[in-house]
Amino acid sequence: MKGTAFWRPLPWQQDLWLEQTSLILQQRLPHALLMIGGAGIGKRWFARALIAFALCEQRSGYACGQCRSCVQLGAGTHPNASVVGVDGHLGLAPTADGHAEQGLVHWEPDEDRKRRDITIDAARSLIGTLGLASHYGSDRYALIEPADLLNASSANALLKTIEEPPAGTHLVLVTERPQALLPTLRSRCQRLRFAAPDEAAARAWMAEQGVRDDDALRLALGAPLRALELARGDGIALRRQWADLWSAVGSGRKDPLTAAAAIDKDSVGEHLQWAQQWLTEQLRAQLGAPLPRRESIAQMMQDVFDAQRRAAGNAQPQLLMESLFVRWLRLSRAAPPVATR
Ligand SMILES: [Zn+2]
Repeated sequence: MKGTAFWRPLPWQQDLWLEQTSLILQQRLPHALLMIGGAGIGKRWFARALIAFALCEQRSGYACGQCRSCVQLGAGTHPNASVVGVDGHLGLAPTADGHAEQGLVHWEPDEDRKRRDITIDAARSLIGTLGLASHYGSDRYALIEPADLLNASSANALLKTIEEPPAGTHLVLVTERPQALLPTLRSRCQRLRFAAPDEAAARAWMAEQGVRDDDALRLALGAPLRALELARGDGIALRRQWADLWSAVGSGRKDPLTAAAAIDKDSVGEHLQWAQQWLTEQLRAQLGAPLPRRESIAQMMQDVFDAQRRAAGNAQPQLLMESLFVRWLRLSRAAPPVATR
């Protein structure tokens, strides 16, 4: 995907594309859009392509990729486009040359690359930019992703901008976890739902990127961009380690402390994500199972969710994993889990 310009939507986004670009052409695009859907299905991709289209000076169906606006977007220097985000977020990782690839001006938080939330400073900087007169007479666009990482004060600061947007400004919020957004913020955005493509379309697109990996596509729950990331990085190996550790702890073959120590602290976020995904699948698969088992899965999901929240703060990753594994061992003794495969 490196170096790919986001001038066009992904093949499975055509309907949504026609709908949203026609709103732009009629100048009826909402001031605040909330793009929702699972990880790695192309929400950010679509958002970038849409902003490029909106700003393009010679568009015909898509952004042209060649006009002054598209060139500026490609270079990350367009004065009417901003991106607010964090480094090292939990979703699909940005590529190393992310700034230029995003094709939008990137707000640099600070040197603290471990930040796991979008700060009040970032929000204020954006609000300031949106309040300025726009260049070339076009509207201003800002992409906020992942929007669920807006902290309480930054979300509150943005609320007023969303309630009373300066003329000609559009906020595009992207999230995999809309429930983590401030409800008042969420309710003021127009929602746009994204779904994974069918399996054939996902396979075909991955093949075009030079990757054939059904295992990755299955583990990514059919999300092609996530599958590509898994297949190209160490995602599959991490998933294997995750399954081995959880099953070893659950069956008492490994004690929680040893298991927690085996996890690299930089991959704790990924581990928690696998845990959440697996537990969600379990809960779905066990709708007819006895109540105690479903309750213990639900309890574990809550614990994993709490751990994800605390991992986003300053919690010590190993301690987080230790207490999760202790809980997992206790629940597994009470109701033996199915294998984590
Ligand atoms: Zn253009």
